[in-house]
Amino acid sequence: MKLPFKIDLSERNCVVTGGAGVLCSTFSKALAQCGANVIILDVAAEKAAEVAKTIKENGGKAKAIKTDILDEKSLLNAKKEIIREYGIPDILINGAGGNHPKGTTTNEFFERKDLQKEEVKTFFDLEREGIEFVFNLNFLGTFLTTQIFAEDMTKKDDAVIINISSMNSFTPLTKIPAYSAAKAAISNFTEWLAVHFSRENLRVNALAPGFFLTEQNKELLLDEEGNYTERAEKIISQTPLERFGEKEELIGTLLWLVGNNSAGFVNGNVVPIDGGFSAYSGV
Ligand code: NAD
Repeated sequence: MKLPFKIDLSERNCVVTGGAGVLCSTFSKALAQCGANVIILDVAAEKAAEVAKTIKENGGKAKAIKTDILDEKSLLNAKKEIIREYGIPDILINGAGGNHPKGTTTNEFFERKDLQKEEVKTFFDLEREGIEFVFNLNFLGTFLTTQIFAEDMTKKDDAVIINISSMNSFTPLTKIPAYSAAKAAISNFTEWLAVHFSRENLRVNALAPGFFLTEQNKELLLDEEGNYTERAEKIISQTPLERFGEKEELIGTLLWLVGNNSAGFVNGNVVPIDGGFSAYSGV
């Protein structure tokens, strides 16, 4: 991958949750290109191993550990293995997350079910289990991972945590109330952590990606033939740059925030990378 610029991460241990996914596998590769030991934690063991293999084939250092960020035991086992093999992590990227159809309504605006021709899922049909799944994956997963890794990271002089928020955190997107609420919680938690750990020189910031076509959102953005849905067209019409982002376009902000030379005084920020979506009122 052609990096926008390079920072020196040699001998730095970098843990990336969700590192088998679309965005975070790109982050993992970029961090490895800067010399970091990248440890990919993901439930998708095979995909994670594939990412680690690609990194190694390209001369980088990487390891994949099957980990469920919602299971403390699994996180603790991963931490033990990382500390034994590499030492305390310097950088934690809390990337695992995403929405799920179980937490999604059919329509943007409430319409009474008895007046509909087709079967719809309204706000009143959303089940606790679906809401908990999405909220826990996005908020609790980041909370638990941070709790388990940050304790050791506070012993370092210049550790960094990067959370992944979203456009939802500024203004909720229609149809996905749990995902929106969870990402708002991530932005809030980023600020909380930044303050809480500031005396330990552990900086915490978040990326707020705009719209990037990935696994987690393709059901909402592409129809069965792979054409843009009405929602995708609407997003593009509200994005002043008039397109979806390319995942590589997140790397500049990631490296800037990770680098203590470039962002040593940047703490508690949620940075939009969104083609202007969050700045545009629509008029
Ligand atoms: P993705 O689905 O490609 O990747 C998510 C990864 O998380 C997957 O590899 C999955 O296996 C892993 N994962 C899921 N549950 C897990 C668990 N319990 N424990 C460990 N790993 C688990 O999604 P993505 O689009 O690359 O998203 C990455 C992050 O960026 C997410 O937090 C997402 O909410 C956020 N985000 C994405 C977009 C976008 O447009 N794609 C926009 C804003 C924010």
